[in-house]
Amino acid sequence: MNKFDNFCTAFVQSVGNKEGAISPAITSSASFGYGSPETAEGIFNGSVKKPLYSRMGNPTTAKLESIMAQMDGGVGAVATSSGMGATTLACMSLLAAGDEIISIGGLFGGTYSLFNETLSRFNISTSFFDVDEFEKIENAITDNTKIIFLESVGNPNMRLPDIKRIAAIADKHGVALIVDNTITPLSIAPLELGADIVVYSTTKIIAGNSSALGGCSIFRAINEGDDKFKTKRYSFLAKFIKGAGKMALIPNAKKRALRDFGMSANAHASYQTMLGLETLPLRLPRVVQSVETIVKALDAQGLNINHPVLASHPHHTRYKEHFQNGCGTLFTIDMGTQERAYDFLRKTKLATITANIGDSRTLALHMASTIYSDFNVETRKFLGITDGLIRISIGLENPQDIIDDFTKAAQ
Ligand SMILES: *Cc1c(COP(=O)(O)O)cnc(C)c1O
Repeated sequence: MNKFDNFCTAFVQSVGNKEGAISPAITSSASFGYGSPETAEGIFNGSVKKPLYSRMGNPTTAKLESIMAQMDGGVGAVATSSGMGATTLACMSLLAAGDEIISIGGLFGGTYSLFNETLSRFNISTSFFDVDEFEKIENAITDNTKIIFLESVGNPNMRLPDIKRIAAIADKHGVALIVDNTITPLSIAPLELGADIVVYSTTKIIAGNSSALGGCSIFRAINEGDDKFKTKRYSFLAKFIKGAGKMALIPNAKKRALRDFGMSANAHASYQTMLGLETLPLRLPRVVQSVETIVKALDAQGLNINHPVLASHPHHTRYKEHFQNGCGTLFTIDMGTQERAYDFLRKTKLATITANIGDSRTLALHMASTIYSDFNVETRKFLGITDGLIRISIGLENPQDIIDDFTKAAQ
């Protein structure tokens, strides 16, 4: 049974309840009565599993977290207010001033500015590499490297990483690997490939229809015996490993990031996200099939399309071998100039012009004038942002309708 068939059952069964209200209850309360001073003490020291305060965990959100952890085979998860919240939570839980990040691949704009601008203000430095610079990546690891960060699909450069090979480098040097799997939930299983933490923007294909902003970080279990998180590099984790054993990365994330930065999920968004999860295993294969059909048709018409399903793409073989369930909803069209790109966007009747991706509607955006308008020429070149580049995120429409619409818009 493939993952999509398996999770068709798992998600609808775990989102719904067998008794009482079938749809998950939305508990919007910010705080919770403890009943007695002894219970209050137990909740604060972790021996009593009841809600403390919604910044630290909420019953509706906890249900989402358990489903997300199940999806990726993690020991636990922390849902957040947005995808950037999830990346910030995972990173800040491991970092201190003086530390270093190695960032691999074409990067989501917000993550790029978090690393390059915001964290550098706190004396945390990041070096950036292409997905295939294995030797340079390995040579860049120092005693201060705390995180290797990777996106499962380069957005918008569409380059695909060899996650297993990069995980092996991270393991060899005892450094944590965080994978942003926003674009490929269920299609790619980062923890199985050797990642330590997976982060998602659930705003995208997981919620699926622009109804809720959210994120989630999923953590692997700490191993009995040797584990990279038991070394000097992560000595701050020792007290959490002592208290929580294999679950240690969860209280570490809550106490070193969530409690003080407060990027907590809200119950309404968690509820919407669970509704999205119920149909994710149906929507994603549909979209992947549409993407492949549309990409091939537009390429055959001579448009400049970037997607690894095309034999001309440098990662075509990797796509066929490692990405058998596709690489999500995205591809790009390079119209050559900004003028021609704008012309396409004015003419398309089906694509909605917006910065979002992974929606049930097809979305489009000119890259250089929007998300990347603040970036200098050199950075844009590194990230693959050309003047005529349009990013497309395919939705649930009939693919032939999109092909017809885009063909007219490109004329
Ligand atoms: C959208 C996105 C994010 C950020 O998510 P938000 O929910 O908008 O904060 C992070 N990574 C990737 C790959 C994304 O597409």
